[in-house]
Amino acid sequence: MKPFAGERIAVVGLGRAGLPAAARLAGWGAEVTCWDDGAPARAAAEAAGFAVRDLSAGRFDFDALLLSPGIPHLLPQPHPAAVAARAAGVPILCDVEYLFRAVRASGSAARFVGITGTNGKSTTTALLHHILSGSGRVSEVGGNLGPPALGLKMLGSDGVYTLEMSSYSLERIAKVGFNGAVMLNLSPDHLDRHGSMAGFAAAKANIFARQVRGDFAVVGQDDAWTAGMARGTAARLVPISGERAVEGGVWATGRSLRDAVAEIVDLDEAPALPGSHNAQNAAAAAAAALALGVSRTDIAQGLRSFGGLPHRQELVGQVGGVRFINDSKATNADSAARALASYERVVWIAGGTGKEGGIESLVPLFPRIARAVLIGRDALAFAATLAAHGVPHEVAGTLEDAVPAAAAAARMGGAPVVLLSPAAASWDQFTGFDARGDRFRALVQAMASADVGRAA
Ligand code: ADP
Repeated sequence: MKPFAGERIAVVGLGRAGLPAAARLAGWGAEVTCWDDGAPARAAAEAAGFAVRDLSAGRFDFDALLLSPGIPHLLPQPHPAAVAARAAGVPILCDVEYLFRAVRASGSAARFVGITGTNGKSTTTALLHHILSGSGRVSEVGGNLGPPALGLKMLGSDGVYTLEMSSYSLERIAKVGFNGAVMLNLSPDHLDRHGSMAGFAAAKANIFARQVRGDFAVVGQDDAWTAGMARGTAARLVPISGERAVEGGVWATGRSLRDAVAEIVDLDEAPALPGSHNAQNAAAAAAAALALGVSRTDIAQGLRSFGGLPHRQELVGQVGGVRFINDSKATNADSAARALASYERVVWIAGGTGKEGGIESLVPLFPRIARAVLIGRDALAFAATLAAHGVPHEVAGTLEDAVPAAAAAARMGGAPVVLLSPAAASWDQFTGFDARGDRFRALVQAMASADVGRAA
């Protein structure tokens, strides 16, 4: 199959997705030329046999520019290759566009489900994939989460591509019409790239572009920006809410997830989906699964058995009746607030490279904190805020010291949960939030097996 024979495609940004994309496109007949601003990435492309050339100079004689989502084409500063492409009137695309074109060129009617929103994209994408796979459907999951789009398998007409779409990717689709579009919520984020909330919303609204009758649009009703976003779509509109009943839709009130027909599941039976934010994610995934024809029983089973994603309120162990939760992905106070609000009483491990405003915005949640154990660069700044509000705390410095201290505090203070939700970036002590979460998991698991050893 050579759907792109003779097409000249420039691939710029050779990170996680770029090089696999170049290889796949070349396999599909395209003439690929590569560029990356980093010399090691260019060397890797050359070693793989690709033409490598600075695309900002000279005439931009390509049919398309496949630009990595991480590289801006407008704000805050367009990449020179994007400037050259725009000047030449050449479309700037993302890898999902090429997956879609290739699948359709193969004659396959495999369905494309795109999932976007400011928060909860990864969780909802993984959850929908889990429900689909559990019900015996063929689903390939990827995009922003997991493998890049051009790393996914070709599917026949019975398959579903379950794709997490960032606003950056959504700005770079041209022919993709999602058979199912899911838009969760919108709050200010990435405004440096989109210029304004209106610009950000416009990028997200692309998820509904080119939808036709027979498609479905799952639309969050819990914020005003999102609620009206699919107005006028030809797709079947399915409103969802994590808070209140919505006519014709799927919603959760308390922990009961349902539609107009009946309860689908009691979310208390879904341990990986705590909190009202996850009720929104569960409603969205359930609505999409229903629209794809999955039975209510299979959806309930999928929600119950979902294991969650690593580093997002991930249960990593249980020692002496205390649950240890890894929410290392919470790199700012806003996301830590979600986690703290999910538990009545916690020992809280926090700290690292704090963000503007520190943990001041978390004060209303302080009554839930039995004791805070602080790590990282801004431990003392966090301690000062906690002290001002009379919250018991200690500075442990490192995660290695914090885990046993938190376990002891949980036992003594009667808190059933130790929560790592740092409200800070990890760069001062780790290579990223995932390394921080992995370390936490390892420490807890070592403690759990020592505990089992003692009991035996
Ligand atoms: P994304 O992929 O959009 O970044 P994730 O599913 O990875 O979202 O969740 C990241 C963090 O955002 C979670 O740890 C949680 O604190 C918060 N979150 C998840 N879902 C939602 C939601 N529906 N609304 C608000 N916050 C959410």
